[in-house]
Amino acid sequence: MHSMNKTTDIQIDDRWILTRRSAKNPVNPWRPYTYLVEKERTKDGVAENVATIFLTNRECPFHCLMCDLWKNTTDCRVPDGAIPAQIQWALDRLSPAPNLKLYNSGSFFDAQAIPPTDFQQIAKLLDPFRTVIVESHPRLVNDRCLAFRDSLKSRLHVALGLETVHSDVLRKLNKRMTLKDFERATNYLIQNKILVRAFILLRPPFLTEAEGVIWAKRSIDFAFNIGVECCVVIPTRGGNGALERLREQGLFHSPTIQSLEEVLEYGIQLNYGRVFADLWDMEKFSHCKICSSQRIQRLRHMNMTQVKAAPIQCPCDKKSAKSIGLDIKQEVYLR
Ligand code: SF4
Ligand SMILES: [Zn+2]
Repeated sequence: MHSMNKTTDIQIDDRWILTRRSAKNPVNPWRPYTYLVEKERTKDGVAENVATIFLTNRECPFHCLMCDLWKNTTDCRVPDGAIPAQIQWALDRLSPAPNLKLYNSGSFFDAQAIPPTDFQQIAKLLDPFRTVIVESHPRLVNDRCLAFRDSLKSRLHVALGLETVHSDVLRKLNKRMTLKDFERATNYLIQNKILVRAFILLRPPFLTEAEGVIWAKRSIDFAFNIGVECCVVIPTRGGNGALERLREQGLFHSPTIQSLEEVLEYGIQLNYGRVFADLWDMEKFSHCKICSSQRIQRLRHMNMTQVKAAPIQCPCDKKSAKSIGLDIKQEVYLR
């Protein structure tokens, strides 16, 4: 009970989150802040190259508790023509890929992020791609998505942050979205022949390790139930200031790599759609010198095959099971 009071003591709002930020990284509005090509399993079950261009644009108007994407954004809207120039610049340098993710650290359909006057020119640049994936806050999904879809030769997918179906935690994440909002956006996109990918957080703040696993699984269930085609499980990472503050107060811990394995296995075995584990910076989630790289390999393999791989045996398993057991006894937050 004592710990519960502690969580309600903190008034987490935009101000609280913004105060904890460090400085942004310097960015150039005429250059994407990074771009890469990686292999991903497609909906049709083949491993294909997917290019990702991380566009530089104005910071997202939402201020989610766990977000660190603001670090590579501008304060003001980028000039007209800057986004097409960034895409062209990256395409000139990327190795060929049939699929493209255009991620903009916010919402592609936010007029302050991607100037709508650029949409036509952007669409033209995307002609060579079979699929194009953009991201959006569920509340910014509207008929602008359909106009963009119609201007594309490529098939459009939209990635939406579901984060968690734990409604109390979702509210505390300051995402300003309800599960109804998410469902409405998903239905709207599906009805308009746009595939939906959901981002799901593994162990957001305020949850124990065991709860983190349970709620990630429930979030996958929810997403597939309403017609999402692909779920990406993201281990909650610190680094934005706000999460560090919560960590000091014992309200946030990053999940273990074992938990990520468990949730990925679960999602894959449902057989409802693709499930991926986000492996960026994964070394930070595993502290065991013996099995760490094997586990990352295993996750990568499962991402690619969508089949459960043989489990890794390691003496560290016992230790982590023990710490999950302890967590369960301390399971007091947000009951
Ligand atoms: S909506 Fe997405 S980009 Fe915007 S603050 Fe939230 S997590 Fe970050
Ligand atoms: Zn180990």
